[in-house]
Amino acid sequence: MMNRRQFVCTATSAATFFRVPGARAASAKKYDLIVKGGRVLDPANKLDAIRDVGIADGRIVVVKADIAADATDTIDARGKLVAPGLIDIHTHAARVKDGPALCLADGVTGWIDAGSQGADGIGETIAVAKSAPQQCRVLINIGRAGLLPEGDTMDLKRADVGAAREAIGRNREMIAGVKARLSRDVAGANDFEVLRRAQEVASSFRLPVIIHMGQTVSPLPKLLAVLKPGDIVTHMFAPPPNSIIDDSGRILPEVIAARRRGIRFDLGNGRTGHLRWDIAEQVLHAGFLPDTLSTDWTPEGRADQVIDFPNVMSKLLMLGMRLDQVVACATVNASRAFPVFRDRGTLRAGAAADVAVLDLREGTFEFMDNFGNRRTGRQRLFPNATVLAGKRVATRS
Ligand SMILES: [Zn+2]
Repeated sequence: MMNRRQFVCTATSAATFFRVPGARAASAKKYDLIVKGGRVLDPANKLDAIRDVGIADGRIVVVKADIAADATDTIDARGKLVAPGLIDIHTHAARVKDGPALCLADGVTGWIDAGSQGADGIGETIAVAKSAPQQCRVLINIGRAGLLPEGDTMDLKRADVGAAREAIGRNREMIAGVKARLSRDVAGANDFEVLRRAQEVASSFRLPVIIHMGQTVSPLPKLLAVLKPGDIVTHMFAPPPNSIIDDSGRILPEVIAARRRGIRFDLGNGRTGHLRWDIAEQVLHAGFLPDTLSTDWTPEGRADQVIDFPNVMSKLLMLGMRLDQVVACATVNASRAFPVFRDRGTLRAGAAADVAVLDLREGTFEFMDNFGNRRTGRQRLFPNATVLAGKRVATRS
């Protein structure tokens, strides 16, 4: 077995890697799976063309026109979009046992549970993550009791540095960062101190902090000042108070400076208070595109506003982002946010064979923001088929 570092070095010469003598001698077929005739969109390789994708041993072997060789399984992707498996860096899939399987059918082959649990209940989300078919990790909520209706850290004692550190120490391999939910109804006037403590915990393990922005008591620039490169701001289209734009629709200079320092900005669709069309429009109009798209998925969100990751991506198409930009945000950009996804988010030869086959339909589709505003788009992405580690998985019907 190669470790990951060795693999990355070797993957640059993927052709050599796959010519290991006798590697496939036992099998009569050259490929385990071919995804045939789809429009392959792989932003990491600037590829947008009709191609076949040949897969063997859980890895992408080749992407080219008309693969002639035999395969054990074939997916007919003609008329469909073939993208790298979707990576959702803000979901709550680990809140329920069947969350991972439901997301997988939507094309999500990698995910991060963004703080469903704190130190006290982190074992529950970790258990779901460990039994999930996909690559996944969890963020620990700095509020030790996790998500609370009365506010995770309204009682500042719950932002317990010692408890969070101990929980990470026990689960270092599954905890990928620290989540700090900072809006008024979650942290109240404690927001800054909660973030300071989250950073104290995260920094000691060299992990990122992910902040839930919008409707905070503290001004956003004061919060951004505590962030380090690699940290993530989610709910970037949240309306005032304390959104990323000022009253005249200009991006705050501190926000631009934060991006320059290597802080990422994420959608975090969700259902309450995070996404308002007019704010999203102004932010995009100012040229400040998201680094990543994410669903903030919950079981309830499947029937309300969020629906599935391809639906969330479609909202950004409606708002004017290009298809390749939207796919990049949901794949390669997301893969760069967490080391666990390092050989994912692309269809290049040698990468893990995680593939989302999507159906880009033209028509009239209604989308909703978090404030009951409806808008109509002309395109909607639907999940069609998912390939995980080289194998076709059940699709949502
Ligand atoms: Zn969330």
